[in-house]
Amino acid sequence: MRKQTNSTTHNQPTTTHTRNVRIGIILPEDQRNTTTLHIPDHPYFLNDTPIRNTTITVTAGNQAVSAADQTVSAGDQTVSAEDQAVSAGDQNVTIRHSDSEHTCNRCVLRPENSDPTTGISIQHIQAGRGFHFATSIDVVLPDAIEISNERGWLMLINELPRETYLKGVITAEMSSACPIEFLKAQCVTARSWMLAASEHKHANLGIDYCNDDCCQRYQGIEHLSESAVKAVDQTASLILIHSSGCVVDANYAKCCGGITESPEHVWSVPKPGQHSVVDAPPESHIHNLASANPNSSTEFIRRAWLTRADAFCSAKYVSPTDVPRYLGRIDDGQSWFRWTKEIAATDLLANLKHHISDFHDAHQLTDIRIASRGDSGRATSVEIDVTTSSMNATTLTIHDQYNIRQALHPDFLFSTAITLSRRHDAGGAISNVIYHGAGWGHGAGLCQIGALGMSLAGYDHEQILKHYFTNVTINRSDRA
Ligand SMILES: [Zn+2]
Ligand SMILES: [Zn+2]
Repeated sequence: MRKQTNSTTHNQPTTTHTRNVRIGIILPEDQRNTTTLHIPDHPYFLNDTPIRNTTITVTAGNQAVSAADQTVSAGDQTVSAEDQAVSAGDQNVTIRHSDSEHTCNRCVLRPENSDPTTGISIQHIQAGRGFHFATSIDVVLPDAIEISNERGWLMLINELPRETYLKGVITAEMSSACPIEFLKAQCVTARSWMLAASEHKHANLGIDYCNDDCCQRYQGIEHLSESAVKAVDQTASLILIHSSGCVVDANYAKCCGGITESPEHVWSVPKPGQHSVVDAPPESHIHNLASANPNSSTEFIRRAWLTRADAFCSAKYVSPTDVPRYLGRIDDGQSWFRWTKEIAATDLLANLKHHISDFHDAHQLTDIRIASRGDSGRATSVEIDVTTSSMNATTLTIHDQYNIRQALHPDFLFSTAITLSRRHDAGGAISNVIYHGAGWGHGAGLCQIGALGMSLAGYDHEQILKHYFTNVTINRSDRA
């Protein structure tokens, strides 16, 4: 049986309910042509056809599905020449299950009754795109799934209620061992970011957010923790409102390193309610350090005061060995409050060439220095002196914390709150560069490890939020 189903082509978010969100799960950049969906034993509709308790294969581009396509392995990130041969003009998706086949340009799978505890299972979903910890995960997605063909590549969207999405986000970001007040603070922050929705990173794809660190990490509902559900329900519709009346476009990052960063140094735009704050109690000596000399980054990142550091994200409040118990994905054995990383100058130059075309002609690295810093000590620009293959000396500048973290080390630096030291070879040339770093992530907004430390010390979610965000109230929103 072959069934042709006509559906409208999407180019705008087509959320059917204003309190729903559309999350991109498989993106065109993943360059996937096929995936397999397991429909649970609950009544669903594939467009208008009843379907339940079955496995379906989805293919973008009307290709025959080979046996190899059906068993895409976790490590299989390569795209075959055959995959690339999908014609740009072919905008259809083919769905096969048992003896039937549907072809449509936008296929929708929708449960007969919305149930946040069950959903469609899909394997081999990308997580951590662009980071060294990129991996492939299996997910269970509640509510509706929409599948389309974006320029020859498969696109899969999960449309679901906002509060169900938030439960998935809170579960993906942190474990059920976390104190409830920390989860509630994280929840209000994530909901505020969602409703402020200033970034529109993926508007061209017709989605509100992607499922990855680029937006907020969302990995479905299979492992929803009881405490995440409780945190979302207990803060239902609570958001951060700035004194000017706007919803706070609230960010969060893993560990600020002692001082949070100002949004203007991360995204080049100020955000009402979000400024650099010292992540420590009012009596902390970090306040003196921060105000005495804003450029004292070497002192702040590397010197003796660290032995009595009392930042909320320091070992005084959260032992580094306890962090993996609380936060989901962690690089084992690391300390994020302060860290060091070393790289050979030749490897650094190779990494720079790999990521930045300006370095194409660079032959030897002769110096590297931090040219400017934000309020948390994070480098906002880095200057690198090189000689070119024709032995000309030149200086190249890298801007933006993401670019700097990616360009300075193949492992992607934890943060740009770094000071530098160097080793030299017998001839006096730089042989190695050592990064002495503070914190993990862009550092703006709520510091997750700091908020965890505050909650372990007995602060409630309102105190935590008012510590990281300024001139704000926590109100119920009828938009939430
Ligand atoms: Zn995104
Ligand atoms: Zn912090």
